[in-house]
Amino acid sequence: MTLATASSARVDLTAATLDRAFVGGRWLGADSGEDIPVVDPATGEVIGSVPRMGRMETLAAIEAAHGAWGPWRARTAGERSAVLRRWADLVYLHQERLAELLTAEQGKPLAESRAEIGASAGFLTWFAEEGRRAYGRTIPTDRADRRLSVIRQPIGVVAAITPWNFPSSMITRKAGPALAAGCTMVVKPSEETPLSALALARLAEEAGVPAGVFNVVTGAAREIGGALTGSHLVRKLTFTGSTAVGKLLAEQSAATVKRVSLELGGNAPFIVCDDADLDAAVEGALRSKFRNAGQACVATNRIYVQDGIHDRFVAAFTDRVRELAVGAGAAPGTEVGSMINAGAAAAMSALLDEAVGAGARIAAGGAPHPQGAAFFAPTVLVNADDEMECCREETFGPIAPVMRFHDDAEAIRRANATAYGLVAYCYTTDYRRLTRFAEELEFGMVGMNDFSVSTEVAPFGGVKESGIGREGSDYGLDEYTEIKYVCTGGMS
Ligand code: ADP
Repeated sequence: MTLATASSARVDLTAATLDRAFVGGRWLGADSGEDIPVVDPATGEVIGSVPRMGRMETLAAIEAAHGAWGPWRARTAGERSAVLRRWADLVYLHQERLAELLTAEQGKPLAESRAEIGASAGFLTWFAEEGRRAYGRTIPTDRADRRLSVIRQPIGVVAAITPWNFPSSMITRKAGPALAAGCTMVVKPSEETPLSALALARLAEEAGVPAGVFNVVTGAAREIGGALTGSHLVRKLTFTGSTAVGKLLAEQSAATVKRVSLELGGNAPFIVCDDADLDAAVEGALRSKFRNAGQACVATNRIYVQDGIHDRFVAAFTDRVRELAVGAGAAPGTEVGSMINAGAAAAMSALLDEAVGAGARIAAGGAPHPQGAAFFAPTVLVNADDEMECCREETFGPIAPVMRFHDDAEAIRRANATAYGLVAYCYTTDYRRLTRFAEELEFGMVGMNDFSVSTEVAPFGGVKESGIGREGSDYGLDEYTEIKYVCTGGMS
């Protein structure tokens, strides 16, 4: 949803002005004075820089968040809601500028960046409302002389560590419920994409989010992560990123018994049954695979197609993939932008070599793209099998391996044969098959005849090694509240 144009923007959000971190309501450099460059992956140009902060600056941010917590939680939910709505309105107002910034540091097509900024504001708006519904309960008492009730209270200081693939919406999906519940937070964005985070902080400041309630620390991931997870003052860690780093952070958080929410990697199967609407299935596979150049935890990772529709699906899908317009995210008409850096594109070549060596055939793409070092051509692999690395592990890039299956039990067994469990997609027009797949696929989310499951109103999250907890919806608010049971005696 586009609600504003650049001409109506009021706050300066150019990369050059976003060169400081935001701690305790102040814009600060690193104690060492060192900066990290921010690079446009489409061109390799340096577009800005942010402070290389470490442990000491992070501890200061935690102190600031802790100091701000008392006054913030003491406000009514309605007052916090009003602040969050102002923040959301400013995000909408600056949608175009924020989208340009996002594309410049991340590479995705502008249309996708606009959609992400819309989603960012959507999370803030939704949780501004939902925070007012953090109801408790009254429990019918077990004894006449006492009363039992449950209230929900904010957990405290929240640490958020966020990834580069959705550098704006992954922050508001956490900040919306955290701030609405009455928590304060310290955000560490990815070092690849800190500008979107700092732009959100600038707008939070403008919206009247009190000093210390929302802090952004940029710099050395391991040092900042260690300070956040090691602190007794931080009562909750929320992380979106790779499974490997998620496991490490969960381990580090154990020493202080923090609440932990983890949104980790996926290995999404995309199942096309004989009776599927072919056009819808092709469109779904295309969009879920190549959005953000395949760099999404919900991206389709492996495509299973039933015998009777396999050849028609491959022909139609391959035709569409060949037509995808690859280019700089900022260029008009681009459908697939650059990957996050040249290393990510090089990793695609290695995956392909392994698959082709094991018998897969390239039906489309299959090589780095001449547009630049961080580009890779959208690729279709046929004759793939479950043992290839591109099917076993999250590819995080524009490679679509296609495999055949014979019957539903086989598709379900192969889809579930992974340590991951974030999202699965399935296309069928038979309601009995639809119900069976929805129930038997071991994933936190199932897209049935739909390829775009993420929305602020529904619970997003995985099972198995794809994570713990849910984001979005009323379940998402629960992640930031503690339940307190109050037992009041002497009543008779
Ligand atoms: P991705 O593959 O999406 O880059 P990562 O898990 O590497 O996923 O990164 C997600 C976030 O985790 C980023 O903000 C990154 O800086 C951060 N990160 C990576 N390693 C560590 C670490 N050892 N401690 C804390 N944060 C980390």
